[in-house]
Amino acid sequence: TKNNGRNGYYFFQPSMNTIAQNQLQLINDLWLALDSDELRLFYQPKYTAPSGPIVGFEALLRWQHPRRGLLTPDLFLPLAEKSGLIISVGNWVINEACRQLHEWRQQGHKNWSVAVNLSARQFEQNSLVDTVVTALEKHQIPPHLLTLEVTETTAMLNPDESVRILTALTDLGVNASIDDFGTGYSSLLYLKRLPASELKIDRAFVNELSENSGDATIVSAIVALAQSLNLKVVAEGVETPEQQAFLTHLGCDSLQGYLLGKPIPPDRINELKEYIKTT
Ligand code: C2E
Ligand code: CA
Ligand code: CA
Ligand code: CA
Repeated sequence: TKNNGRNGYYFFQPSMNTIAQNQLQLINDLWLALDSDELRLFYQPKYTAPSGPIVGFEALLRWQHPRRGLLTPDLFLPLAEKSGLIISVGNWVINEACRQLHEWRQQGHKNWSVAVNLSARQFEQNSLVDTVVTALEKHQIPPHLLTLEVTETTAMLNPDESVRILTALTDLGVNASIDDFGTGYSSLLYLKRLPASELKIDRAFVNELSENSGDATIVSAIVALAQSLNLKVVAEGVETPEQQAFLTHLGCDSLQGYLLGKPIPPDRINELKEYIKTT
């Protein structure tokens, strides 16, 4: 048994080191990526239900890693959050989204808005208001065209603080959106106090609509709740025409999902025009 223990030890030790080393390497790479222009924002369109026009885009982070290829956020954001690098990454995202929106505005898309996701640590950062103000001013963005998405879970971590932070942000004129709604445990009292203008129904419930067609209880309840609180409702993860029709029927204001448009790099945004014309 002694030997087994030793074998176990030697068996696990190298692989654990490898994981730790990989993570350390990735954090280091991410640090460098910030300076060497490897981070990208992809944009996913958000449509007025059922099929347009486009009201705006959600900016979704990607990392064009020199060796590993195009990485989605699940592969590096948790590490960025743990290491604190998320603050620099998040600042980059806010600034880059505003820069892109300015470019679109110059091309004539004066009503498009952009939504940016905020991580928990970024949300709690005192300098967040300054970062947002600076980006808006630098790129001459009317504040109401920027939406900040915070997950329900983040918003409910410390509800009193969240009310204070979101109030400071929305006082600037930007919009707040409660993301992944339905997965956290919102107190209705706090939800009412949060100065948000939008709820995004989590993809899981949209998915459920097709598997369990007709069972719209949760989505109906969320829409009713949102309407009573004067919030717009966005459904995300819309993949089928059935979901599109049903979510519209249930009263969702706007829709996002692969059916209407996947997240794409900004230089491919003109491919979406085709869709607008035909609907
Ligand atoms: P999220 O904010 O809930 O974003 C929606 C995710 O669902 C995106 O994944 C999007 O590509 C994906 N999606 C959109 N439509 C569909 C659909 O019809 N079907 C399916 N199966 N998926 C769909 P992505 O881009 O991998 O982002 C994952 C998460 O990473 C985001 O979830 C968000 O929480 C986080 N994230 C992305 N960009 C940023 C960022 O710049 N900052 C922060 N803090 N978090 C970000
Ligand atoms: Ca989001
Ligand atoms: Ca979401
Ligand atoms: Ca999500």
